Amino acid sequence: MTRLLIALFFTLSLFAQTRPIYYLLWFDTEDYVDHASDDAALRLATTLESMGVQATFKVVGEKARRLEKRDRRDVINALARHDIGYHTNLHSIPPAPASYQRILHPLEAIEEFSRREEPGLRDLQRIFGVLPSCYGQPGDSWGPAANVALRRWGVPVYMDDGNQVGLNGQPFWLGGMLYIFNLKGFTLRPDINKPETLPATNRQFNGMVDLLRGKGGVIQTYFHPTEFSATEFWDGVNFLGGAYTPPEGYRMPRRRSPESAEAAYRALFDFVRHVQSIPGVKIITARQAPLLFQDPLQPVAIADARRQFQTSIDIQGPHSAADQLLALLGLPPQYVDGPVARGQSSVNGATLSRMMFDRARLDAIGYIQTHKRLPHTVWAGSERLSLPDFAATLAGDTGSASVEVRKGITAFERHVAADTDKTYGWVIHPRGFAAPELLEQARLQAWTLKPARLR
Ligand SMILES: [Zn+2]
Repeated sequence: MTRLLIALFFTLSLFAQTRPIYYLLWFDTEDYVDHASDDAALRLATTLESMGVQATFKVVGEKARRLEKRDRRDVINALARHDIGYHTNLHSIPPAPASYQRILHPLEAIEEFSRREEPGLRDLQRIFGVLPSCYGQPGDSWGPAANVALRRWGVPVYMDDGNQVGLNGQPFWLGGMLYIFNLKGFTLRPDINKPETLPATNRQFNGMVDLLRGKGGVIQTYFHPTEFSATEFWDGVNFLGGAYTPPEGYRMPRRRSPESAEAAYRALFDFVRHVQSIPGVKIITARQAPLLFQDPLQPVAIADARRQFQTSIDIQGPHSAADQLLALLGLPPQYVDGPVARGQSSVNGATLSRMMFDRARLDAIGYIQTHKRLPHTVWAGSERLSLPDFAATLAGDTGSASVEVRKGITAFERHVAADTDKTYGWVIHPRGFAAPELLEQARLQAWTLKPARLR
């Protein structure tokens, strides 16, 4: 009896500390070449609905328009009963988002992203009757201009997979967006072509749940409806390596046999039933996600920020580097973008006069309040400080008559990927494509990077 009570006590105290584990299932609904993928989307949506599972279908603008043109109200309605996200206007028709963003000034890239991508978002809104809950790039064609445009449109979540930016394999805030992205050890896809591996995949899922027990976290699975109707990607056969094929020349991907399609569906549905069977795991959509995380604007302890910035400018607890800088400037918690360039310091001496530094501080405040963005350079008369040097100098300012100029070290940049073959290796990008400019932009926008903490 006593042993039973002890066991009960431990079970109860475990529950008391438990943060939720959330599971997201999403489908990039993009194949506007092969009609068979319409039926695959329908089958996925209706079966999951009958299982009581709400998924997120990230739809491409061109796909939605074709569903409408072909009068597939059945597909549109079935998807609309799930959550609808956005997955670009044209997906694989060149130029891809990273291609057109990388050659533009970051502020121009925002306007160009809007010009190219907003029409598809509005079409989705008209066709599905709802503003998409999230956005994700085609392939790995990520770029930071999306963040600002999405915020303007009222789309709060960036949900995809990619390795350009990441934070400990769990959701994070970047550019004012909730990122469900780069969930390294917490992205799991059952092999729908090898149903015999399902028990191992289920065990892998259990292992992820065990790792998150107590502290909580997010696990995701993603597929494309076209994977259930075809054995190759629709865009690989039409847009490989940046090639353009006009609609009248579209080639169909190789289709699955009915038996192979059935086996694929069964593998996914069996896996999702396993997910449903695990206590403490809650299946959610992108639309629900923002409500499940703590407010990203938390008051910063100035003394902590001061200490942090003098050694290295880094994320501290739930605070981004930008949050901490605003606190040091005496500004209230608010979201502001990172700088658009890397400034260079040109201060001649080791110190600045009190009067000059105070002017610089006020100038920085003015810039931030006007542009809602961090300046890359802060002027002290005709001399200037790069943003990191200004931040470190500000943190070290003791109020004395002369202010010691310090060198700022931005540690948060380590969360951005290096420029390698794999960073932008999507087969639809032109062969050998790289976008070091966008990774540099990511490092600058990482001033706003911080963990997204579950409620
Ligand atoms: Zn896609």
